[in-house]
Amino acid sequence: MLTITDLRGRLAAGEQIDYPLVVPRATFDVNAALNTVQPVCDAVAAEGAAALKRFSERFDHCVPPTFRVPQEKIDEAVEQLDPTVRKAIQVAIARRRSVCAAEMGAAESEVELAAGAKVVNRTVPVRRVGLYVPGGLAPLSSSVVMNVVPAQVAGVEQIAVASPPQADHGGYPHPTILAVCGLLGVSEVLAVGGAQAVAMFAHGVTDVCERVDLVTGPGNIYVVAAKRLLRGLVGIDSEAGPTEIAVLADDSADPAHVAADLISQAEHDPLAGSVLVTDSVELAERVNAAIAEQVPQLANIERIETALAGEQSGIVLVDDLDQGIDVVDAYAAEHLEVQTRDASAVAARVRNAGAIFVGPYSPVPLGDYCAGSTHVLPTGGAARHSSGLTVHAFQRVQHIIEYDEQGLAGVADDVIAFADAELLPGHAQAIRLRARGA
Ligand code: NAD
Repeated sequence: MLTITDLRGRLAAGEQIDYPLVVPRATFDVNAALNTVQPVCDAVAAEGAAALKRFSERFDHCVPPTFRVPQEKIDEAVEQLDPTVRKAIQVAIARRRSVCAAEMGAAESEVELAAGAKVVNRTVPVRRVGLYVPGGLAPLSSSVVMNVVPAQVAGVEQIAVASPPQADHGGYPHPTILAVCGLLGVSEVLAVGGAQAVAMFAHGVTDVCERVDLVTGPGNIYVVAAKRLLRGLVGIDSEAGPTEIAVLADDSADPAHVAADLISQAEHDPLAGSVLVTDSVELAERVNAAIAEQVPQLANIERIETALAGEQSGIVLVDDLDQGIDVVDAYAAEHLEVQTRDASAVAARVRNAGAIFVGPYSPVPLGDYCAGSTHVLPTGGAARHSSGLTVHAFQRVQHIIEYDEQGLAGVADDVIAFADAELLPGHAQAIRLRARGA
């Protein structure tokens, strides 16, 4: 059962509603988890492989025979892959690759600002990246596709993948995760999970993994906290933490479908957030009834029930869809489903969401695997300022500035005026020494 927050009539009564405060959010947030991960990251920096071993024992209850997964294990996983799953993986790879190809812009563009004055925008890939693939509660082999494909399309030279060791699989990551790495031609795979994996990538660990330039990928709250802590030492994509779904629906939505979609994301993590925003009391009641009916028929019941009962999940009743849009904008969900009449028009009015799933046949689990879109998306409100994981995360834009004598002379007075206004005569001097007539 989702708890209901009723906003109806409050605006008409003259109340000013602070929407970010009324949307459901967890209080055990990334900042709270920083205290847990700081000593883990410090220990990996100071002790290297010995710390990786200790944290694998403590958090994963096993230690891999070698942190670097041997190539034969990857090849064996590819050989033993169920043909139906192999086909599904190939569909996911092909669709994600097509969208990534469209994400790539021109490698270079040149702007001529005046005679002898040009700036080139040059896009260059990051050299070496560390990609995180979750494996604590479920082995998310789809996250290999979502990390590796955009990195490859962007032209990254060196790709390393890390995923938690599994006691049931000889201390190596789940075989399906290894198989997807194999199918994508990734050979540097590390059996390391959680904050210690992010620290390994950021600092480098002797005889295990060379440091990387950028860490990407989703993970639980500890993975996200480690990324926040080490940002700067290493590049980080958006904070893609415990999953969230918001559904903006009116009375045209099918309650069984809405309930199933809310449950699907609750299945990821007890900290996952499932939020329904609707102007229909009847839909709200029927969704709650459908949840009660569907959950007992599934696996992972405890995890789902904890997530749905948590403070981060709930139903928000609104006066109308205009107010609904204000609420979902304030929430800035990782995933937003729009299940209303004229869903495309309503979706076009939404400003903040990691990804928007439009209409009754675009449920979030489609995007988790095979839609072609990314499933690595910003959580915790970060969709207000961050994007999901696309090829752009793996690229940098460099400006190449090339002015000749005439080009510099044409703008020298303006540069000198700016430098003088900032009380920086050394800047002006560098221009005066070069520019004719300045
Ligand atoms: P995970 O691999 O992210 O985390 C497992 C690791 O967490 C373990 O290896 C361990 O090292 C560490 N850990 C566990 N308990 C700990 C503790 N008490 N203290 C310190 N470290 C601890 O796998 P998971 O737990 O299954 O989480 C996967 C997460 O990824 C879910 O929250 C899911 O919603 C999220 N996800 C997010 C997106 C996104 O784009 N936002 C996409 C897919 C998945």
